[in-house]
Amino acid sequence: MFGYGGKILRVNLTQKKIEKQGLDPDMAKEWIGGRGFIAKILYEEIPAGTDPLSPENKLVMATGPLSGTFWPSAAKIVFGAKSPLTGGYGDSNLGGLLMAELKYAGYDMIILEGASEEPLYLFIDDDQVELRDASQYWGQGALDLEKELKKELGESFHVATIGPAGENRVKYANINHEFGRQAGRCGMGAVMGSKRLKAIAIRGTGGIPLYDTSELIRVSKAALKHITSHPYFKRFRQYGTTDITDWCQGMGVLPTKNFAYGVYEKQASLAPEPMREKILVRDKACFACPLNCGNYTHSRKYGTFIDGPEYETIGMLGSNCLVEDIEDVQYLNYLCDDLGMDTIAAGGIIAFAMECVEKGVLPKNQLNGIDLSFGNVEAMKTILKKIAYREGNLGSLMAEGTRAMAQKLGQKSARYAMQVKGLEFSAYECRGAPAMLLSFMTSDIGAQHTRSWAIVQDMEMGRGNIEGRARLVKELQTLRPLMEMFGVCRFPWLEVKLDFGEYVKAFNAVTGFGYDKEKLFQISEKVWNLTRAFWVREVDDFGRKYDMPPERVYDPLPSGPAKGMHLTEEKVNRMLDEYYELRGWDSNGIPKEEKLRELGLAEIAVDLLRRGKI
Ligand code: SF4
Repeated sequence: MFGYGGKILRVNLTQKKIEKQGLDPDMAKEWIGGRGFIAKILYEEIPAGTDPLSPENKLVMATGPLSGTFWPSAAKIVFGAKSPLTGGYGDSNLGGLLMAELKYAGYDMIILEGASEEPLYLFIDDDQVELRDASQYWGQGALDLEKELKKELGESFHVATIGPAGENRVKYANINHEFGRQAGRCGMGAVMGSKRLKAIAIRGTGGIPLYDTSELIRVSKAALKHITSHPYFKRFRQYGTTDITDWCQGMGVLPTKNFAYGVYEKQASLAPEPMREKILVRDKACFACPLNCGNYTHSRKYGTFIDGPEYETIGMLGSNCLVEDIEDVQYLNYLCDDLGMDTIAAGGIIAFAMECVEKGVLPKNQLNGIDLSFGNVEAMKTILKKIAYREGNLGSLMAEGTRAMAQKLGQKSARYAMQVKGLEFSAYECRGAPAMLLSFMTSDIGAQHTRSWAIVQDMEMGRGNIEGRARLVKELQTLRPLMEMFGVCRFPWLEVKLDFGEYVKAFNAVTGFGYDKEKLFQISEKVWNLTRAFWVREVDDFGRKYDMPPERVYDPLPSGPAKGMHLTEEKVNRMLDEYYELRGWDSNGIPKEEKLRELGLAEIAVDLLRRGKI
């Protein structure tokens, strides 16, 4: 089979059993890879109603056919599981080098099931696959452990680790790789920790069979030429995602003070140029990537080195918490990375807690002596550690995520708990950006930006109206997730406008499947409907109310270029009506039987009918 390693590793941590299974060629043809594989495995193999932190949940790591090839930026692997943070479908991808090693070892996917009683790590050296004792590493920081394992096993091994937050099942714990690349969202690190799996170390020395090597060389060379000659190439290479910090401020969409504002008066100190001057050591790239958007930084103030902060971290741990010094943001980023927590969720929940303190919803006598006020960096350092170790009432409460915390605190705090489906907002204030808001509302993992980063088109379509947003979001949600099925990074397409048609050519050169865009879009839509079906199956009263945003979006923005902009409940519902209609779902957002059948998901339709869900 071209483009695939051809094998799946199934690792049962309860029984300490490792099986090598063949990859079904029909599965590759019908689900492509990455999140396509994950959606199928999670629906079919996890029993309905599974506790996400129980041994019955599965953690799936899936590459795509392009992962590890020489196509530019073929650098992604996706982790997926039932999310402990949201209770629904969860996945998160990371770059770096892991995907290439796994493919070169001959595996397309690892399915981790069960749970060990003692800490273990998974060792993969081509055919040699072992579960090894990790007792001596339990309790260690994610970054420290990566360094140690590479020292012990050799630099040619590439490693994924969890930190104390994952061990302690913090609901937004992440999986670290390459000293700062993370599968950050949906609590994949908590699922790994619940299985007592501390790390995965991989070395592969084989190759990937290609259907048409000369065609792949031809399209890759053409893609490289396009990428490197694009006018934005040099700047994106230098600044990476931090380059949009100024743009977000300029548009009034920079989350500030728990999304109460869209501009931060001290944003200049978080801007890309001062950041580069103050802390940049060098640029850093994932596997086969000419864009090298990573920023490897050093804070002299703290003595810490990390890959980052990226824009999302600057927005969430910087402006959203009123932290103005980029070195403080770098250090908070370092703490999150080493403790093993998502910086987006951490920034979101800390800002939410700070607002609760300000409003008296979180009384001072429940703060365990921490002065949790906006801009207090010392308090942020302390609370991050308490969350990771679930120390004290507050640490334990905040380890559960923003939605759970708001439910516990009550007093209308849900109004400004910035989450959808339990996942904290990425760093975009959306009152002047309705397509971005609709993207957050309808994303299949919760309020995450990568499924449809619609904010630029939002501005181009004219502010203050909602026309055309539903169609735009649906189209982006169909194209962009294909990147995570192919196993490639979306930035060449997004930032330097590499045409999607070139990806299709590369996909066909690698696999020989001969698919056109329409066929790929059909598969993507099928995956989207399957992940929606997973939510329908898993959440008892699932429907429109789970797509609704926090009510803060109905308050007019108080300042900045988007001053006065806001959504109304009527507009939000209108966008959802149009979106559901385009998707072929009913007015409550549930996929209709005929839509599921049309997409080749007849068995899913039967299953949901049998359960009385549709
Ligand atoms: S563009 Fe950035 S995130 Fe994407 S593969 Fe390259 S270095 Fe990694």
